[in-house]
Amino acid sequence: MTDKRKIVQVISLIVFTALVFMGKMQLWLFIIGLGLITTIGLGRLYCGWFCPINTVMMGVEKIKGKVGKTDKEAPDWVTAPALRWGLLAVTIGWIVFSSKKGLEANTLVYLIAIGAGISFIYSQRLWHRFLCPFGTLFTIPARFSLFKIRLDQERCVSCNFCSKVCLGEAISIGDKQQKPTIDTKECLECFECLEHCPKKAIFFSNKMNENSFKDNLSL
Ligand code: SF4
Ligand code: SF4
Repeated sequence: MTDKRKIVQVISLIVFTALVFMGKMQLWLFIIGLGLITTIGLGRLYCGWFCPINTVMMGVEKIKGKVGKTDKEAPDWVTAPALRWGLLAVTIGWIVFSSKKGLEANTLVYLIAIGAGISFIYSQRLWHRFLCPFGTLFTIPARFSLFKIRLDQERCVSCNFCSKVCLGEAISIGDKQQKPTIDTKECLECFECLEHCPKKAIFFSNKMNENSFKDNLSL
């Protein structure tokens, strides 16, 4: 699953880069619009599989690993909900303003640069969970997703592996021996938790038939 995701991410980044060089980056906004619509059915697949910011940040993570760079702790104020919604409002305002004025504003390119810089200093999770304006936008339809990451309470042994690998900080575990809780609107659908759960206790399914994908999903 992770390899398939990486291939899709790289192809998406190539397409995005080509659009930027052709001066047609607005076309990517249609892909984002499509991603928002499909989120209602399938969750935030755009974020985990297609977003160029996310893909570049994966490269930044690799560089950090190679040079032995450790993540700085983020200040508490960065996690305030007002900040993420404010950043979304500013970004939408900027996109509308620049298109009305006919400005060549490659907003996503700026966001890639900002996201890459932030993820070099802090954990990339800070960006996904609290700062990315598009990520915040996707949390709105993600509240209504039919398919989502779910937990089989009986299989789970509270080992915490899933929350450690979660890129969206969507999984939290309370005190010892508690089962994890999944905030599905924050889930990027990276499926890292499915891959790393030693008990196969996490699965991707719809509400109607929770176990339909559990045993069929090849990881
Ligand atoms: S990795 Fe699997 S078994 Fe471990 S806490 Fe998460 S869901 Fe439970
Ligand atoms: S690790 Fe699981 S819960 Fe976290 S973002 Fe990825 S798919 Fe969603």
